[in-house]
Amino acid sequence: MPAVETARPAWKTDDLVLFEEEAYKFFSRELRPHVEKWREEGKVDRWAWEKAGAAGLLCMSMPEEYGGAGGTFAHEQIFIEQQTRAGVEGFGASLHNCIVAPYILHYGTEEQKKRWLPKMATGELIGAIAMTEPGTGSDLQAVKTTAVKQGNQYVVNGQKTFITNGQTANLIIVVAKTDPKEGAKGVSLMVVETDGAEGFRRGRNLKKLGNKAQDTSELFFDDVKIPTTNLLGSEEGQGFFQLMQQLPQERHQIAVISIAVIERALELTIDYVKERTAFGRPIISFQNTQFKLAEAKAKATMARVFVDYCTQQLIDGKLDAYTASMSKLLLTDLENEIVDECLQLFGGYGYMDEYPISRMYADARVQRIYGGTNEIMKLLIARSL
Ligand SMILES: Cc1cc2nc3c(=O)[nH]c(=O)nc-3n(C[C@H](O)[C@H](O)[C@H](O)COP(=O)(O)OP(=O)(O)OC[C@H]3O[C@@H](n4cnc5c(N)ncnc54)[C@H](O)[C@@H]3O)c2cc1C
Repeated sequence: MPAVETARPAWKTDDLVLFEEEAYKFFSRELRPHVEKWREEGKVDRWAWEKAGAAGLLCMSMPEEYGGAGGTFAHEQIFIEQQTRAGVEGFGASLHNCIVAPYILHYGTEEQKKRWLPKMATGELIGAIAMTEPGTGSDLQAVKTTAVKQGNQYVVNGQKTFITNGQTANLIIVVAKTDPKEGAKGVSLMVVETDGAEGFRRGRNLKKLGNKAQDTSELFFDDVKIPTTNLLGSEEGQGFFQLMQQLPQERHQIAVISIAVIERALELTIDYVKERTAFGRPIISFQNTQFKLAEAKAKATMARVFVDYCTQQLIDGKLDAYTASMSKLLLTDLENEIVDECLQLFGGYGYMDEYPISRMYADARVQRIYGGTNEIMKLLIARSL
């Protein structure tokens, strides 16, 4: 019996139920065996992207004419859920699929879409988005990176940090000021193709509390010249508006990661407490264990219904920024709470790296920080009061 049971949401068609098992098989057979190596090396091998691309698993929500599968966010949600269920750590494809590719689809010119999306679908191009700088994260209008127009080129200068896929990405959307005198109105999104880009340098692959198999990096841009055709869209000063428009999907995909982790944590823990004994009885027989897991199951069930509701809203083009912020806030907080309670039920084993629950505990923490901190989510939700 699954740990969390709800009625199948309308968006999950019969085809998608079949796809669920296919995706699970792909992740557990092809990628899961390599996770320990990736954790040691701090990044995922490039071939994993190409393999996922060849299996048709990248950019599934992009239209077929741009190399995608013509799907919706429902495909991306199943991808995230099955990656988590199979324990495939570090593979930053949800950022590539749900954040970077949609920017290009929604704001790119026809030429830009044809140039980049098909290669993102095969894994030839790996995407990243570089917003955060050493001096600014939450306050995006304060970015200092500049992109100055000189003839038919932009010259990009600045420094970014904490960039997911930073060591492996070769297509990076850089948030830069095309008009440094302006705040939000001076921001533009510049697409930097890093292969052979002079003046572009990757800094340290940062050591982190969790997400050990994922690369999170510093990036440096010293007079990096890119053609003016790499300005996303055809008009300067649209960057902030473009970022705001895409936030509901970005935030909700973080909530999807949370529900997938919550469900896996509950399944692993329920199995464990049935097998482990103390004082001559399985630890599930203690009332404390039952109450803790009963509470967690009740909250997880409510959370699952809300996530699937938001997914339907997103597919229908109706997910507003407030509801998406609620989804990110509630789900990431709940993920941290439930994973912590589950880890406790594993006792000392829960603290050991070889037990997935310990990794889930470390990995969960950042969910409340990136994608807009949970404090920023509350500020946004408060605007709807
Ligand atoms: C593992 C990891 C991966 C990441 N991946 C990416 C990526 O791919 N691309 C990218 O661009 N960035 C990425 N980030 C950066 C992330 O988005 C930022 O860390 C985050 O937005 C917070 O910014 P900051 O670290 O500068 O914190 P700050 O903005 O300095 O915030 C510090 C504290 O102050 C609080 N605070 C700030 N402003 C307010 C306010 N107005 N009211 C109340 N409290 C406030 C915050 O909530 C936080 O608690 C990643 C970060 C991590 C850790």
